[in-house]
Amino acid sequence: MEIRVRFAPSPTGHLHIGSLRTAIFNWLFARHNNGKFLLRIEDTDLERSKQEYTDSILETFKWMRMDPDEPILVQSKRFKEHKKLAEELLKKGFAYKCYCVKRDEQEIEGSYSKYSGKCKNLTSQDNSVSFVIRFKIPNDKTEISFNDLIHGKITFPLDQFDDFVILRSDGTPTYNFVVVADDIFMRISHIIRGEDHISNTPKQILLYNAIGVKSPEFAHVPSILNESGQKLSKRDAAVSVIEYKKEGFLVDALFNYLVRLGWAHKDQEIFSREELITLFSLEHVGKSGSIFDIKKLEWLNGIYIRQKDSKELLKIIESDVNSDFRNKTSFFNNEQILKLIDLYKERSKTLLVLSEIIILLIKLPANYEKSAINEFVTEKTIYYLKELINELKSINDWTEATLSEKIKSLCKKLEIKLPNLAQPIRIALTGNITSPGVFELLAVLSKDESINRLNAFLEFLKK
Ligand code: GLU
Repeated sequence: MEIRVRFAPSPTGHLHIGSLRTAIFNWLFARHNNGKFLLRIEDTDLERSKQEYTDSILETFKWMRMDPDEPILVQSKRFKEHKKLAEELLKKGFAYKCYCVKRDEQEIEGSYSKYSGKCKNLTSQDNSVSFVIRFKIPNDKTEISFNDLIHGKITFPLDQFDDFVILRSDGTPTYNFVVVADDIFMRISHIIRGEDHISNTPKQILLYNAIGVKSPEFAHVPSILNESGQKLSKRDAAVSVIEYKKEGFLVDALFNYLVRLGWAHKDQEIFSREELITLFSLEHVGKSGSIFDIKKLEWLNGIYIRQKDSKELLKIIESDVNSDFRNKTSFFNNEQILKLIDLYKERSKTLLVLSEIIILLIKLPANYEKSAINEFVTEKTIYYLKELINELKSINDWTEATLSEKIKSLCKKLEIKLPNLAQPIRIALTGNITSPGVFELLAVLSKDESINRLNAFLEFLKK
């Protein structure tokens, strides 16, 4: 059997981080099984669906390097076929016309109470009056079960369901019906989706039975939760994938993090995409919800940032995070920028943070951190800095190696330890002491700029 899975977002908002994880599970399942990964845009709610969201969702998939294997199916383009299928069910006696239109409107608006079945056995049918088509819940069984590939056997009593609407009075299909119609059309073998759809599954299986097509396999993925165990919402964290892109989370870090959120392979944390394709299986997806941990995502992002070449990081900063970055940092030439990215990527959790640090470096520190001064500046610092500036002025070969050699021997001459000088240098150059190696920083900032900043700090200390 060919493995065919689909991810079916509704274009009523940007792609949610939890939906992305479901999509990733689909994608990995398809890749692992040499199957097909498909996308379907579920825009049957014509009022809430917007082209801008479809565009944004598709862009997110492109960004994630998860392009679908076949052309994207847009649900509303198949309304005619949906209607035809509903009429077939009508003809075969699996559905009936219902004239209680008011009821239909109520049901669609969500004030749900069980439908009485008033129109089920009507003998005369009037096509001039507005009607909906309802699916008949079969009365030859009392319950319905399916084997969920993550949760195991799930059973629902049938009396919980009433004859649900499959086609609205305006001829548009409703959710459960259209999903089944399109999954059949797309020859989907496995439906991997969020667990909020578990309660829809019995209705969908009944539809498969009536249409005479074998149901696909179902796997319902547990939700992503906040720290108090509720479904992750905007109040807890950024939920749109796009926001993570803008903050400079790397695609592979986000991918890695989301897979591990709910799936495990021993206690391994870092996986390449290839490894995940080899290892992924639904059996190792947990049954209970997983808690979103931004600290862990940042930690993982830091690891992926450090592994990446600075040129690539610069490209990503410019394309995703801050398109104005080079304008804002034109004080530095390209070589300096790449070197600064190299130095600061060691300590950056996101590319937004990295780019902001570098932007701050283009000018004299706006202020010097008080606590750093209290800790590392003594009465003698002014004297040390004067000596340092004299020493630096005499250097012609402005490289890390020479700077290191000269500054270390100056410390020896002054009979002080390196930090006594290195920390004040950091404060002078950047305003605080969280900068990377002081020799590298001096080297990249250039001789004139470094001496300029040291002099400015000296003046500040003298006041
Ligand atoms: N459009 C549905 C949603 O966004 C998904 C339907 C399905 O996967 O069956 O939740």
